[in-house]
Amino acid sequence: MTLADVRRVVVPVACADAVQTHLRAVGRDGCEGLALWVGVQNGDLFRVSRTIIPQQRHVRNSDGVCVIIQADELHRLNVTLYKEKLTLLGQIHSHPGRAYHSDTDDRYAIATTVGCLSLVVPDFARASFAISRCASYRLDRRGRWMELKPREASGLIVVEG
Ligand SMILES: [Zn+2]
Repeated sequence: MTLADVRRVVVPVACADAVQTHLRAVGRDGCEGLALWVGVQNGDLFRVSRTIIPQQRHVRNSDGVCVIIQADELHRLNVTLYKEKLTLLGQIHSHPGRAYHSDTDDRYAIATTVGCLSLVVPDFARASFAISRCASYRLDRRGRWMELKPREASGLIVVEG
């Protein structure tokens, strides 16, 4: 079983809140933020157990805004995942306005396993977190980020409190 087999993702509301809190905080300074969901897969079910906010650099210049995670932090993340037997399900990042996967997002994604997820939260996460508000993408077997329809995303990812 790999992430591509996952048909249902359960996210505790605390893990969704942790993402939103971070994205909103950096958004107040006009910056994009990024968070990761990690957890355990059991058959076609994936349970998110933790939100990780990796050390990140927020860049804001005339070209716009972006968020950079450096190589040593990615290494630390992989060590943590390995030691704690956790799997990286996907990443969530914010945009100043509309939510979509930019070319940069496609190219520099942190989650790169087939079947992993990438969610983009609009408007610097000013609204409360809801899967239906995000643009949701899943990496297919050919390495392309395929956008999920809102109904598919809401069916796949369930936030439970
Ligand atoms: Zn983006």
